[in-house]
Amino acid sequence: MRRSIRSRAPSASDTAVRTRMRAVSSASTAPELRLRKALHRLGYRYRVNARPVESIRCKADIVFSRRRVCVFVDGCFWHGCPDHFEIPRVNSAWWSEKVEDNRARDRTKTGMLESEGWTVVRLWEHEVTTDLKGCVEKFRRHFDRKPVTDFCD
Ligand SMILES: [Zn+2]
Repeated sequence: MRRSIRSRAPSASDTAVRTRMRAVSSASTAPELRLRKALHRLGYRYRVNARPVESIRCKADIVFSRRRVCVFVDGCFWHGCPDHFEIPRVNSAWWSEKVEDNRARDRTKTGMLESEGWTVVRLWEHEVTTDLKGCVEKFRRHFDRKPVTDFCD
């Protein structure tokens, strides 16, 4: 984990870093794929990398429109996992601020979605990697609580 964080530290310029961040946020990660595959095998059908609510600028990794449940697999680095995020030594102030911004944004978006009646399930990347079964169970506990609605987008 330590090596992968270092390898993603800013190198040349802020522009390069920004480009990398954009790439990271839109591409599916291995843990996301793993979770999706597990849910699909259990018969769940969903949208991928989609906006739960059209008017809220926020894409979730897995979206179940009829139950208004969405899942985020948060990367340990970008979202500041308490177990795995270490501030890189180079440009540490920048990184610290950047990741704190991301965490604040995660909280805001979660609140906005919840106020629209959505259940937001946030999983850490490391949880999916080390305990896929536990993550599926956590998801199902949330999912099963929600009634099916006629709402569909
Ligand atoms: Zn982690």
